[in-house]
Amino acid sequence: MKCLVAVKRVVDYNVKVQVKSDQSDVDIASVKMSMNPFDEIAVEQAVRLKEAGIVTEVLAVSCGSVASQDVLRTALAMGADRAVLLQTDESLQPLAVAKLLKALADREKPDLVLVGKQAIDNDCNQTGQMLAALADWPQASFASEVQIEGGCVRVKREVDAGLETVELDLPAVVTADLRLNEPRYVTLPNIMKAKKKPLDVVPAAELDVDIRSGLSVLRVAEPPKRSGGVKLPDIAALLDKLRHEAKVI
Ligand code: AMP
Repeated sequence: MKCLVAVKRVVDYNVKVQVKSDQSDVDIASVKMSMNPFDEIAVEQAVRLKEAGIVTEVLAVSCGSVASQDVLRTALAMGADRAVLLQTDESLQPLAVAKLLKALADREKPDLVLVGKQAIDNDCNQTGQMLAALADWPQASFASEVQIEGGCVRVKREVDAGLETVELDLPAVVTADLRLNEPRYVTLPNIMKAKKKPLDVVPAAELDVDIRSGLSVLRVAEPPKRSGGVKLPDIAALLDKLRHEAKVI
């Protein structure tokens, strides 16, 4: 059973990004970049399925510039068997990524595709769902538990009302939520081993899909600064403000 895992290179979650002085974008020229945290969880899940003898091959894929090879090497160090970079310098929207993943899935024929529930740079939460629609495969988003049984995957999903369990025929797309697992630390010996694992670079243009974006960024601005809070002496003062200033009661 083959598992394809999508990993995106994003600004590290500890970095506080700054807006460029010309307001054209955020400035990521010299900030730390890492694997999207939800994708680490997806890779961990794929590797655990392999360790359990259920999955036989874990293929990590990233779409983006040559720089994305570093997150693929991390995925290999976590236990993925091989990696593919679908290389392009275009700025990719979720639909473009979904199209590229679909084209790769047509070639690789995975039984299960794991993606993160969302990328923390754009917070879109769209790619997995779009991929499932393009491939016409069943999908389970926001997974907090994944079990494979026969030709099915049983997924516990985190939904507004609590947990929902769904069973999907394979092949299927599953998006990883925070509580699915705790990703392992990458050890130095595994980083060294990962250098020898195969990482193919395929020009995205070879896949013959339209990845042009229909969106353009007009202006990026900081959110307005929050005005300072006030400390009130008692409940009566609070009620007075709610009644006469905020006018909400
Ligand atoms: P998004 O829909 O942009 O929030 O991304 C959801 C998930 O899709 C991410 O957690 C990744 O698993 C995958 N994904 C998005 N963009 C890329 C990319 N450029 N390369 C590989 N995977 C991606």
